[in-house]
Amino acid sequence: MSTTAPVLPQVVDWDGIDADARRMLLRRPTASLAAALDTAVRRTIAQVRADGDGALRALTRRYDHAELDAIEVDAGAFAVARAALPEDLVAALEEAAGRIEAWHRAGMAGDFEIETAPGVRCGRMLRGIRRVGLYIPAGSAPLPSTALMLGIPARLAGCEEIVACTPPRPDGSVDPAVLAACAIAGVRRVFRIGGAQAIAAMAYGTASVPRCDKLFGPGNAYVTAAKQVVAQDADGAAIDMPAGPSEVLVIADAGARADFIAADLLSQAEHGPDSQTIAISDDRGLLERVAGELGRQLAALPRADIAARALEASRLLHVADLEQAFAISNDYAPEHLILQLRAPEPWLDRVRAAGSVFCGDHAPEALGDYCSGTNHVLPTAGHARALSGVSVASFQTAISVQHVSAAGLRAIGPCALRIAQAEGLDAHARAVSVRLDAEVEA
Ligand code: NAD
Repeated sequence: MSTTAPVLPQVVDWDGIDADARRMLLRRPTASLAAALDTAVRRTIAQVRADGDGALRALTRRYDHAELDAIEVDAGAFAVARAALPEDLVAALEEAAGRIEAWHRAGMAGDFEIETAPGVRCGRMLRGIRRVGLYIPAGSAPLPSTALMLGIPARLAGCEEIVACTPPRPDGSVDPAVLAACAIAGVRRVFRIGGAQAIAAMAYGTASVPRCDKLFGPGNAYVTAAKQVVAQDADGAAIDMPAGPSEVLVIADAGARADFIAADLLSQAEHGPDSQTIAISDDRGLLERVAGELGRQLAALPRADIAARALEASRLLHVADLEQAFAISNDYAPEHLILQLRAPEPWLDRVRAAGSVFCGDHAPEALGDYCSGTNHVLPTAGHARALSGVSVASFQTAISVQHVSAAGLRAIGPCALRIAQAEGLDAHARAVSVRLDAEVEA
């Protein structure tokens, strides 16, 4: 840990500050970097498009300090990695995989068909997206849990080809737990590249990395910015959502425990210096105790340096009542929302925007990160206002299908004719009338 004392958050009275101050307090730490990030990742993407595997090797040397020979992990490495892991870790990954699969399977949409008029049957067919690219972060900490969170729904969705990228360690190898988790999830093609260069490789393809139709996964600010750039390019790839630096917002009542709240805030803060953590309560004393607990617990963390930097953007907000806390939370739209309330369920109706909600004192966000069953790839930076976390549906397209008999054409054709006339689209009208006329002649 660095020798300078960490800057711990102070309790702020929400009613005592104006709208500008409120906006500044809830600004995401990466918001001010957006333009610089955009320029940096566009340069990386252009380099990968121009030089392919050569660029991947050069960028990996620069950012991951690793010399790559083969970019793809050897097929035999999965079994070797698994054998090298402690048995209890393999068992925990398999246990988590079971619950993740159960939850995602339960949420799967299905095909359907209804008769919308006599002789007109309309249905929907779901198809797995053909080739999907998964990003598994490993910059500051390898995340085998992400391999489960992405690989399992991709397999359930029926995707034909699933590839993954993850940054290598300095010796060029991939973290064995990430490889074991890939094998458990059913991901068999893994490439040793990270950052914006991995996103570019999967979006445009290189000699080694196949071009993918849609990219998934969390990552740091570079990864997230690169995903947004390739998603805007018609030659690029679709993306799940911007799932960038992690955030948690805790709403706590007077009965909540300060040590639990501080532990939850720190569990996000240790992800990276640009993570954001917020606690809101109608009990000022509780928030003051949380500030004290943050200092105490931080000192004992191995990743204290990273967490301390994230705490500079941490907020402890004292509000008049819990209604106000939910209003702030809905405006902020946190990736994770923890309700440390004595009776959280009745408050769920107030939640309008959040990636994932954790109810009560016994539901730390860390359970959702690993093994409760829900997905941990969630929208950040306020995107939870309109976007949802990853699910099986994220890996599928829905294709609509219609079957129309002659009677069906007679039943709904005039409706189409009238609307086509109103829109002035004569060829549309003719495509219907030519058939109706043929029916009459027959
Ligand atoms: P990462 O794998 O996302 O990024 C590491 C890569 O970033 C490196 O391989 C390198 O290529 C690149 N990089 C590093 N410094 C760079 C620089 N100066 N210029 C250009 N490229 C650079 O791993 P990470 O950094 O540990 O980040 C993981 C992130 O994922 C964290 O921010 C965490 O909060 C987030 N996360 C989000 C969710 C979610 O659902 N939103 C879930 C889990 C994790």
